[in-house]
Amino acid sequence: MFQGPFRDSILKRAQARGLVRIAVHNLRDFASGRHRITDERPYGGGAGMVLKAEPVYQALRALGARPTVRAVGRARLQAVRPSPWCVYLSPQGRILTQATAERLTTQRWLILLCGHYEGLDERMLAFVDEELSIGDYVLTGGELPAMVLADAVARLLPGVVKEPASVAQDSFRGGLRLDYPQYTRPENWRGVKVPNVLLSGHHAQIARWRQATALLATRDKRPDLLERQPMTPQERRLLQGVSLR
Ligand code: SAM
Repeated sequence: MFQGPFRDSILKRAQARGLVRIAVHNLRDFASGRHRITDERPYGGGAGMVLKAEPVYQALRALGARPTVRAVGRARLQAVRPSPWCVYLSPQGRILTQATAERLTTQRWLILLCGHYEGLDERMLAFVDEELSIGDYVLTGGELPAMVLADAVARLLPGVVKEPASVAQDSFRGGLRLDYPQYTRPENWRGVKVPNVLLSGHHAQIARWRQATALLATRDKRPDLLERQPMTPQERRLLQGVSLR
């Protein structure tokens, strides 16, 4: 499943240039027995299968994971750190945001643990530093969420995206605001013209227009973001004073 996204485009180039290293591990390689079974029926009955504790534990141990603060207390933990930051992709986790992705760039190594079937044996959460969800819906496995997270974090690492300015202006960078509208050639597409200000060459006016249209996009498409981070007096003044043509 991981071959496509990790062997293509920006992530492929980032790995080739040594800016990021991504390794994929198969849980079955850490299972014992002739059949290398990784799942079992849940205790207490009920539908579906659960990923067994031991193969997950062996995989996490091989990757250097340690029990978390939650599991062993801060004093003991200090003795066993540092270890990679272990994220379990789970619909029960906090929702992944741009701020979370930025925070995760400060970790040297991440372990992205993917569940399957009904999920993991609960005892494995002792090794999980953080549960993250990519949205309030349920997928069949943690692979797609892990790829989403890896992509969101990798593109923030220095040098991965060629022009740092393009990452800096993205939606959600520096607050809960969306990106401004973009246009490219031709100037007149079937009678629909590019806003005059973008053709003016007047950098200060273009910057003001972009800030204002970003605010309007946020207000129209994601009003919930403005409830969480209301407009500043400066942003209000900007919206009143700018011509959007
Ligand atoms: N029974 C679990 C529950 O309701 O919490 C759902 C298990 S789900 C079918 C199987 C695996 O997919 C999970 O263990 C998790 O790794 C992954 N997964 C599913 N939806 C996800 C989401 N929205 N975000 C992150 N991971 C998700």
